[in-house]
Amino acid sequence: MADQFGQQVTAVLSEDAQRLSGEEAVSMNIAAGSAVAEAVRTTLGPRGMDKMLVSETGDVVVTNDGVTVLEEMDVDHPVADMVVDVAETQETEVGDGTTTAVVVAGELLEEAEELLDQGIHASTVVGGYRHAAVQVADVLDDIAVEVSPDDTEILERVAKTAMTGKGAEAAVETLAPMVVEAVTRSVYDGQVNLDTVKISTFDGRTIHDSRLVDGLMVDKDVPHPSMPTDAEDADILVYDGELELRETAPGASVEVSNTEEYEAFVDREREELSALSEGIIDAGVDAVFTTGSIDDKVVGDLAEAGIVTIRHLRDPDLEKIVGTTSASAVSDLNDMTEDDLGHAGTIRKEKVAQVYGPKSAQPEKTLVLTDIEDANAVSLILRGGTQHVVDEVERAVEDAMQAVAVTLREGVVVPGGGAPEITLARALRESAESVSGREQLAVEAVADSLEVVPRTLARNAGANPVDAIVDLRSEHEGGTTSAGIDGYEGTIADMHEAGVVEPESIKRQAITSGIEAVNSILRIDDVVSVGELAVEDQEEEGDPGNQNPYAGGGMGGGMGGMGGMGGM
Ligand code: ADP
Ligand code: MG
Repeated sequence: MADQFGQQVTAVLSEDAQRLSGEEAVSMNIAAGSAVAEAVRTTLGPRGMDKMLVSETGDVVVTNDGVTVLEEMDVDHPVADMVVDVAETQETEVGDGTTTAVVVAGELLEEAEELLDQGIHASTVVGGYRHAAVQVADVLDDIAVEVSPDDTEILERVAKTAMTGKGAEAAVETLAPMVVEAVTRSVYDGQVNLDTVKISTFDGRTIHDSRLVDGLMVDKDVPHPSMPTDAEDADILVYDGELELRETAPGASVEVSNTEEYEAFVDREREELSALSEGIIDAGVDAVFTTGSIDDKVVGDLAEAGIVTIRHLRDPDLEKIVGTTSASAVSDLNDMTEDDLGHAGTIRKEKVAQVYGPKSAQPEKTLVLTDIEDANAVSLILRGGTQHVVDEVERAVEDAMQAVAVTLREGVVVPGGGAPEITLARALRESAESVSGREQLAVEAVADSLEVVPRTLARNAGANPVDAIVDLRSEHEGGTTSAGIDGYEGTIADMHEAGVVEPESIKRQAITSGIEAVNSILRIDDVVSVGELAVEDQEEEGDPGNQNPYAGGGMGGGMGGMGGMGGM
């Protein structure tokens, strides 16, 4: 059907326009959306596999993180993009649960397709899905367990659950307490503030050598041996730019005809540089952090004046300093006011990482800002054998920090391991009975779809997914709502006893945003596109749905770097 339709379309459309409508549009969109879910399904849970993604320029990322897989894949199909958006929103809003959101969305799309095949209208499906979505929060509330902010043990379990399955796994015992401590310490004035937690990564050594540093690390050392590295009660200038001579017009040259003119010229340059230094010194600044380079003469002047100076600061570090010390980034010294200056009680130099090998591009020593008013800054130094390992550890730690932060903010967790999905499925099947007509089937379809989570956890752990679901359902029937899949063994276990817990809002958001995204995909019954949806290559094997110009062209083009979806 797809091929025939493709030919019809090509026959009537102008060269650069395409139109798909009605069932065909819905069905093609479903194919594109569920292809995205297919790409991350095997990464779910503790026994999930990793993906290696190679970019056009040959950069390699090895990851288990759903949103990272999808971002690196560079999907350029409009509907597939809507599913990727779910993961990205999940990542920015709650920081974890990205794979779950996408896998659930994929399953909902496939269930929808079956309903459509049975002749049920898309708007009926949307209605049933919506009915299910509004119940998610209530059902989760019923199984949620309160967590007090000083219950370190539960917080560490949350951190561990978020980190399992990722490269950090081997070292969760080291990392989980660090993550909890970093997040708890960042609390200021009753608010968790992850902006004041800085993560620095170093390759070499092992993950177990990771540690926590009190204060905000800036990852740089001072540029001059005689420059001070310590300051007390320091006023900080954050300068976004270069402290150098203003460039003369590109390619312009200055002509001098005698020594006097030359000396006058050099003098003018020195004066200009001195003016820069004086502007800073006169402002009574104790430390200067710039993103750009600083002329050697200015460095010398500042060193002499006893001002701690750091140059070539990376943008994220600039943001951290601005965010924690209440500085405003200045880009013109003439506009600088006292209010722009940040403040730190202490600046000190600290040896943070032993770097092996001759290259040692990373600093062994960096400055650390501590005793900052209005913020509790902490830094995590993450280590790992290679850059790939450390990068994945960093992603895992970021997920864990978010999960712990969400738990502190909202104070409730639910069991993981697919347990809440089974609880929800049961509740939805029950409530479906009260829904009239065909919409009932759609509500039941949501129940079936949610079971994809325990099913996939079981399958990824090498267990029989059908048996697992049957057993889980009967455990829940018997009242054990915390029965889930032991993600390592694939057996049934009590998730509270196994220490597998997640913040309620991560679960809620993953499921409801999955449903919402699917609903917006299902409501599209007309796709009109100017160019680009046309077929570029049809090398996709497997799913005949992908042979359609719409699905095949977009996905094939966007994921060419990975050898297409079929290869995963
Ligand atoms: P996501 O991107 O959705 O966070 P993950 O790959 O991190 O995806 O998998 C999360 C799922 O794995 C959640 O359902 C979580 O409860 C489950 N999980 C994590 N640790 C375990 C474990 N030890 N046993 C069973 N399930 C686990
Ligand atoms: Mg996770």
